[in-house]
Amino acid sequence: MLQRAAIPDALWREAVALLPFLAILTDEELARLRSKVVLFLEAKAIVGARGHDVTPLQRVIIAIQACVLVLNLDLAYYDGFENIIVYPDEFVPGWEWEDEAGVVHRNDGPLAGEAMPGGPVALSWPDVEAGGDWENSGMNLVIHEFAHKIDMRDGEANGCPPLPAVISADFWKRTLTAAYDAFCARIDRGEDTEIDPYAAENPAEFFAVLSEVFFADPELLVHEFPDVYAQLAMFYRQDPALRAASLRAG
Ligand SMILES: [Zn+2]
Repeated sequence: MLQRAAIPDALWREAVALLPFLAILTDEELARLRSKVVLFLEAKAIVGARGHDVTPLQRVIIAIQACVLVLNLDLAYYDGFENIIVYPDEFVPGWEWEDEAGVVHRNDGPLAGEAMPGGPVALSWPDVEAGGDWENSGMNLVIHEFAHKIDMRDGEANGCPPLPAVISADFWKRTLTAAYDAFCARIDRGEDTEIDPYAAENPAEFFAVLSEVFFADPELLVHEFPDVYAQLAMFYRQDPALRAASLRAG
């Protein structure tokens, strides 16, 4: 393609307005995000399934949230897959797998989203829409699934993506494991948590859910797990809590 598939101003502004957590970004960051979104949309196909029509606004809303994670990273973090599949509602994945004993398992779902190693990301549109409004939903499906994608760059999702040299893998694992164990203990005691209890499912979900919190409600993560926040800030090369605090200070 010779010409950049630019995003019309009105469409861009409409999408950003529907994602209030972006308010902490500076104008410079928003401009950079927009350029990344253009490249992302050139590289990926966002396709509807089961009769779902993906509108231009939906494409931009999905692409923006996927690109928030890699705002300061290389877009190559998302190499190795091309398709984002959008369903009209929660969906039951069709895949099966065979365990070591030769027993075939099926995931019965239904799921709001799924990221497959080396394969597409699947999203339920109503859940994408709900996730844009963190204040009301307390979740962000697109950030969640793309955090899994980043985690899967070295194979199955396990809560430890390939780390840059500045991050000690030992320290990362110790920090996230300690936080995960503490979180699971709170869930086991039946405590209410502001962070989605689904994070207790396994270390991969913990990383994906905490990545949602990192971008959509960074000060909550600083409050709950400051050590994890610091690791994620190094990993994503962003300090959204600092931006949120300076925004409040005016
Ligand atoms: Zn997940």
